[in-house]
Amino acid sequence: SHFTPDFVIQYAGLRVRFGAGMRNRIAEEVERLGHARALVLSTPEQADAARHVAETLGPRSAGVFAGAVMHTPVAVTQTALAHAETVGADCLVAIGGGSTIGLGKAIALRSGLDQIVVPTTYAGSEATPILGQTENGIKTTLIDPATQPEIVLYDPELVATLPVPLTVSSALNAMAHAAEGLYAQNRNPLSSLMAEEGLRAFADALERVVANPGDLDARSETLYGAWLCGTVLGQVGMALHHKLCHTLGGSFDLPHAQTHAVILPHAIGFNAGAAADELAVVGAIFGDDHPGRALYRFAERIGAPLSLRALGLAEADLDRAAEIATAKPYWNPRPVTRADIRALLQAAWEGRAPA
Ligand code: NAD
Repeated sequence: SHFTPDFVIQYAGLRVRFGAGMRNRIAEEVERLGHARALVLSTPEQADAARHVAETLGPRSAGVFAGAVMHTPVAVTQTALAHAETVGADCLVAIGGGSTIGLGKAIALRSGLDQIVVPTTYAGSEATPILGQTENGIKTTLIDPATQPEIVLYDPELVATLPVPLTVSSALNAMAHAAEGLYAQNRNPLSSLMAEEGLRAFADALERVVANPGDLDARSETLYGAWLCGTVLGQVGMALHHKLCHTLGGSFDLPHAQTHAVILPHAIGFNAGAAADELAVVGAIFGDDHPGRALYRFAERIGAPLSLRALGLAEADLDRAAEIATAKPYWNPRPVTRADIRALLQAAWEGRAPA
């Protein structure tokens, strides 16, 4: 049972819709919010998808801003905010992954504009009130209810275009939210249920997606998993895994989803003994007594990157990475020491299975 005797759960204004072709029904949702001019946000790479959305919005479109980039730089947010004012936007439609969704959240934080989010990766930002931003090369993270999107629309046909390598990394990124949510100090019965079901959805559908990236039923199930895992991220605190990925992404510029993919088996392996009861479900779902090894084997089966070396990190940077990652203390089921983290990073750099 996931029951814990003391907990708080708070939901406000949650509206989530799933369905193939949902991207063609955004106008209904703009109308439902009582708005008339939606600015559509995307990365330059997804500008075509954004223009398609703007067309379906017809007179409810305030055009497209296709300038979202990684790490949500404040300078880009300010340009987009000025653009939103110029075109008289009264709400935002973000179509894309965590980078585009981050831009929408950053604009909403500063303007109060409502957000409709149409996710195209599994990262899960749409389900959280969390925003990471960078200014002068420094990434900071804040939690503010003003960043939480009002409406989320999941369309499996959109995620079907996510290339297989990014699909598998992004899925492991999502699964990391659930895996760490299982042992979070402030977990609650629902967050644990969602974490377990989210992991199960990926275990069930991801290999089918890899075999046939256009399989819409499997894509739907993975999106369902992503929503559950993202919801967990938005509700409970994260620990070692997310700290390590934040360090590697922030200080060494490693790619977000791929870094999560490599670190996950090692971070969960590290905590396996200290959170044995909470993590038992991971081993059960992925078919190995040891939850870290279970995730490593799963990552291997789906063709995920397995080493930090493959992501371009130099072995000479591992000392500094261990130092930065342990500079500020934080809660983790197993106490974190610099020497242990250095050893973990070595194994992850080499791509060895977790011990
Ligand atoms: P991303 O948004 O940076 O997307 C990577 C690339 O893939 C982009 O070029 C994008 O346009 C493209 N792409 C996305 N979906 C596609 C699709 N279906 N088809 C083709 N191309 C597609 O990657 P991400 O991993 O989704 O997001 C990473 C960012 O999100 C990081 O900055 C991370 O910090 C942030 N994030 C934030 C939260 C939060 O709660 N605040 C949660 C998770 C991630």
